[in-house]
Amino acid sequence: MKFKPANKIQDLQYFGEFGGVNPSISDSATYSFLTANKMLDAFEGDAEGCYLYSRYTSPSNMYLGEALAAMENTETANVAGSGMGAITTTLMHFCGAGDHIVSSRTIYGGTYAFLKNFVPRFKIDTSFVDITSLEKVEAAINKNTKVIYCEAVSNPLLEVADIIGLSAIAKKHNLKLLVDNTFSPMIISPVKLGADVVLHSLTKFINGTNDTMGGVVCGSKELINAMRSVIDGSAMLLGPSMDSLRAASILKNMRTLHLRIKQHSKNALYLAEHFEKLGLRTVYPGLASHPSHHIFKNMMNKEYGFGGLLTLDVGSLAKANKLMESMQGKNLGYLAVSLGFYKTLFSAPGTSTSSEIPDDEQKEMGLTDGIIRFSIGLDNDIERTFKLMRECMVSVGIIEN
Ligand SMILES: *Cc1c(COP(=O)(O)O)cnc(C)c1O
Repeated sequence: MKFKPANKIQDLQYFGEFGGVNPSISDSATYSFLTANKMLDAFEGDAEGCYLYSRYTSPSNMYLGEALAAMENTETANVAGSGMGAITTTLMHFCGAGDHIVSSRTIYGGTYAFLKNFVPRFKIDTSFVDITSLEKVEAAINKNTKVIYCEAVSNPLLEVADIIGLSAIAKKHNLKLLVDNTFSPMIISPVKLGADVVLHSLTKFINGTNDTMGGVVCGSKELINAMRSVIDGSAMLLGPSMDSLRAASILKNMRTLHLRIKQHSKNALYLAEHFEKLGLRTVYPGLASHPSHHIFKNMMNKEYGFGGLLTLDVGSLAKANKLMESMQGKNLGYLAVSLGFYKTLFSAPGTSTSSEIPDDEQKEMGLTDGIIRFSIGLDNDIERTFKLMRECMVSVGIIEN
């Protein structure tokens, strides 16, 4: 049977403290106990329904986690104050001194910097590989490998991970497959395809209003309880906890996620097809020209389309900068990093979100100077947007009239 992530969210039913249609927001950092014994039970992790201290979790954070777990089809989830807060604590949970990670080389700049520059001080070693080559992934595994790490759709080059193939490799070698699904919530359901753990930056599509940061790790109860352990849990002890007020507001935004994703995808496909027709080098998983178009099609929950991200290579950084300034001038979007907003956002990844990656490695992975990454907005009239974008391209000399 097909997996329907939006139905899973729709089916959650909450009655607030006073019967409100939204769950009440927990406005407390600490919680009282009627008896001292109950408090001891809570510390030992078996006081079901009791809250202890909000770094551990709070009712509002539990509600949001529950909705995200429902969307990703995992037993449970733990929210964090940022995507990096979720990603780093999860990697630190699975890996310690002497361990090894096989990671996609095209990942979010912050995750790349964490693996490349930060965890070596804990003697955790990472091999960065071309994730689209299952042979290369398997060849990089050694006796110390614990984790295969990738993004379902990668930042910024929009490479697509064959999650079914990667999961077979992970199972064969007894490894965990961790998938960052930030670019494709609802579109791809990694656990349904064999992944063990799904990570998100909620800052992007899931919240969708660019007013807060957030992250989540979705996985088994065993994993989440271990990460929350007061004795040795990475989430509990490193402490990237989300505030309850924010958890409540993100939960409310999640209810329109399915509508937003469909509109982002529809607009992005329209623009990608038209950019390609203009003869521009366009990368979008929904185009037949995308090298992983079929793998994406095979994995996707079809009704949500191919996502809101696309890249254009306009030849040089100077041209990319001119075009972005011109588009911002025409109010077609903002020259800004991040993604998943109602307005289109654009940036040149080589000099922004991927600037952590050294120049020679950027070149090797095909991240050229002229690339602009677009996160396409929710524009109701995308034909008008395209016409205006085309005018900008003519005015800065990228195409002829
Ligand atoms: C933004 C992003 C992150 C980091 O999330 P923050 O919320 O900024 O900490 C991780 N992975 C991907 C794919 C992202 O786009």
